[in-house]
Amino acid sequence: MVAVSTKKDIRRLSLLEIASVFKELGEPKFRANQVWEWLWKKGARSFEEMTNLSKTLREQLESQFTIQAIQEDKVQRSHDGTIKTRFRLHDGHLIESVLIPVPEDKRFTVCVSSQVGCSLTCKFCATGQMKRVRNLDAAEIYDQVVQVNRQSEETFGHPLTNIVYMGMGEPLLAYSNVLASIERITAEDGLGMSPRRITVSTAGIAKMISKLADDNVKFNLALSLHAADDEKRNEIMPINEQNSLDILMDSIAYFYRKTRNRISFEYIAFQNFNDSIVDAAKLAKLCQRFPVRVNIIEYNPVEGVSFHKSSADQIDRFAQFLVDEGVMVTVRRSRGKDIDAACGQLANKE
Ligand code: SF4
Repeated sequence: MVAVSTKKDIRRLSLLEIASVFKELGEPKFRANQVWEWLWKKGARSFEEMTNLSKTLREQLESQFTIQAIQEDKVQRSHDGTIKTRFRLHDGHLIESVLIPVPEDKRFTVCVSSQVGCSLTCKFCATGQMKRVRNLDAAEIYDQVVQVNRQSEETFGHPLTNIVYMGMGEPLLAYSNVLASIERITAEDGLGMSPRRITVSTAGIAKMISKLADDNVKFNLALSLHAADDEKRNEIMPINEQNSLDILMDSIAYFYRKTRNRISFEYIAFQNFNDSIVDAAKLAKLCQRFPVRVNIIEYNPVEGVSFHKSSADQIDRFAQFLVDEGVMVTVRRSRGKDIDAACGQLANKE
C-alpha cells in the first residue's frame, strides 16, 4: 500500500494563491515569488531545499503542504545511449520517460508521458494494451522534464534541447494539464524553454486539434498517422472511426492556418500493411494541404502484436517515392529497442 498524503500539493496553487498563504502567515509578498521560483524554475522537490527561507517558515509550509514530486524508480540504459526511466507517482502508479541523445547533432530529446496507461487501444502499441488509469497533472509532466534534464546534464554534459509528448497516453485527452505543463516549461519564471522545441503528438482527435489552434499555441504538432486511408487506419487506430482522415486533415489545415506552427506526420512502417508504393502515393496526397514533414519510423516488436517491421529496402523505396513527390521525409531507425524504450513500446513491463 502506498501512503497517500492528505496535504495539498503546493504546486496546485497559483502564485496569487501562494501569496495569500504568506499574507495569512504574516510574511512579506516577495516570499511567494521565492517559493514560486523554487518550485518552477529550480524544480525543488522538498521545502528543505528552499534555503533562502527561514527554517521556521519551511516547517510551516511543510505542515500545510506537500510537493508530490515523481520519484525515479528504475533506469535502463540502451547500448545506443537511450535512457529509459520509470517514475513512481505519489499514488504508486508508474510511468516512463525516455531520453534520446544525439550528441553529434547536439540534440537531447525527452519523450514524456501524459497519462497513466491510455484509452485509445492502437493495435501496435504496448501502452494501448494497458487501461487508462488517470491523467498526469501538470507538475508530474513538468517533473519528467526536470529530472530527465538533470540526467542529460549528468550523463552527456548537455541539457535537454527538445521535448516530445509522445510517451504513454494521448496528450490531447489530458488537454488542460498538458497545456499547463507547457506553460510552466516555457514561462520566463519557469524553465524558460522555447515552445518551438516542444512537439505534442496526437493519435488524431480533430476537435482538440482545432482547440489547439483556437488557443493559439506556439508548440509543434505531430500526428501519429501510420496509415493513409481510413480503412487501414480504422483497423489499427480505433480513434479514426470518429475522426476520419478528411476531418483530421481539415482540423490540421485549420491549425496551420491559425498558428503556422510546424506539423509532422509519424508513420510506422509495417511490413505488407502500409509500406507499398500505393500507400506512399496516398500519403503524398495527404501532404498537399500544408507544409508537413513525414517521419517514417521503424516498427519495434511489441508482445502480443502480429505486425512485422518493413525491410530497410522497402522503407527506402517508400521514402524515395515521397521525396520524388516533393514531400519532406526523415527515416528514423528506432532507438532504445533493447530496453523497450522505442516508439510504442512503453508499458511498464514488470
Ligand atoms: S499510440 Fe499513443 S494514443 Fe495510441 S494507444 Fe499508444 S499511447 Fe495511446
